[in-house]
Parts: sequence; structure tokens; C-alpha cells
Amino acid sequence: MTGNESMSNGKKILAIFLAAVVLSVPFRSKEVRLTAARAIAGEGMLRLVEASMEHPRVALTFDDGPSAKYTPLLLEGLKERGVQATFFIMGKNIQGNEELIRQMQEEGHLIGNHTYNHVQLNKIPRELACEEIQKTNNELYEVTGIYPSYIRPPFGAWQENLELCVTMLPVFWDVDTLDWKSKNVNSILKIVQNEVKDGSIILMHDEYETSVDAALKVVDMLKKQGYEFVTVDEMIVT
Ligand SMILES: [Zn+2]
Repeated sequence: MTGNESMSNGKKILAIFLAAVVLSVPFRSKEVRLTAARAIAGEGMLRLVEASMEHPRVALTFDDGPSAKYTPLLLEGLKERGVQATFFIMGKNIQGNEELIRQMQEEGHLIGNHTYNHVQLNKIPRELACEEIQKTNNELYEVTGIYPSYIRPPFGAWQENLELCVTMLPVFWDVDTLDWKSKNVNSILKIVQNEVKDGSIILMHDEYETSVDAALKVVDMLKKQGYEFVTVDEMIVT
């Protein structure tokens, strides 16, 4: 029997409490805190402590932009809140918004593809679908120096054989705020509140004032509930 297994329940609770305190100390490196917490609680209990302390995660995604009028306000608000989001950009909106796109990149947001003309990819010939995606990728590369790896297919309509011409990962969503339809901040907040869960991908559009206002309120609301905001690559990979 190991030392940990022979602990009384009272000692176990104390060990978990102390390990939780050590792990929550903000100013040491995570490695140092993990080593200290492991010494106090033991490996098995430490995993429990870590699991209970992990934040639920959520990804904000914005389609159809950028908008010269509203995207700057959104970027400013996200920066103030230390939040990174994912922007699925329409190719036809790149010209004239190059600086805005570079700003997104510099501020840590993920940039993805939303086709050139907002086409429904499974309703057009494959060659045309490939062209819509590749043209957007090429123009984004000219602005950012990076070929996007993620695509949000307009209307959520993906065509499987497109992988033959593009190696991109389609990104869908589970929380549809219908922001473009309602243009109502309270309605958007209500939908998010009712549907959000750990791992959610929230769909919004950065071309309406109400969407920008609601998005920043969503950030404030979910942060209060302990949510951590990530870009979709972080959500999908880990
Ligand atoms: Zn769209």
C-alpha cells in the first residue's frame, strides 16, 4: 500500500485542497506548480484536481467579413478583453481591407476562408468550387504570408471530393446565434446562454453593429461563467 492509499479521508481532502491552492497560484510556471501539487496530493488525485480546475472552452467565429465599418470596433473590443477569435473571410472583401486583415493576424486571431463569393459549394461544379476556395486562399496569402488551413463553407454546405483540390479542414458550428437575422443583442445573448457548452463553436457575422455589440457582451458573459476563449485550431487539435 502506498502512502497516498493509506491516507485518511480528512487528509485526502486536505491534500486536494492544498494541491488546488498550489495549482491556482498565478505567478509561478505551470511546471513548478504541478511538481509542488504532485508532491502534496499524489498523481491520481492531482488529475482530479486539474480536471476540476480546467476552464470550459469556447470559440467565437465571424463569417462574411471583414467589414471596414464594424470589424475595427470588434477587434478593439476583443483586444481590450484579451480574447482571440476566428475570422472566416470572404475573398471579395479582401481588397481594401488588407490592413484590417493584417491587424487580425498581428493580434492573434485565426484567419480562415469563406469562399470568394459566398457560394454554396455543393451546388456548383467542383472546378468552380475549387477556384472559389483557391482564389481566396491565394489573396489571403498575399496579405498575411500564410495559406489558411481552415474553411467555413457558406451555409454549412461542404462537398467531400473538394479534398482532391484543397487540403483544408471544414469548420462548422453548434451555436447559431442567427445574428444576421434578428439583429438583436438580447436575442443573440439568449441563444448563446441557452446553447453554449464546453467545446462550443459560436457562429456570428462581423458586418452588423448589433453583432459586434453582442459578441463583446457574449465575451463578458461567458468569461464570468469561467469560459476560456480559443481559436478553432486550438479547439479542434486538442
Ligand atoms: Zn457566410
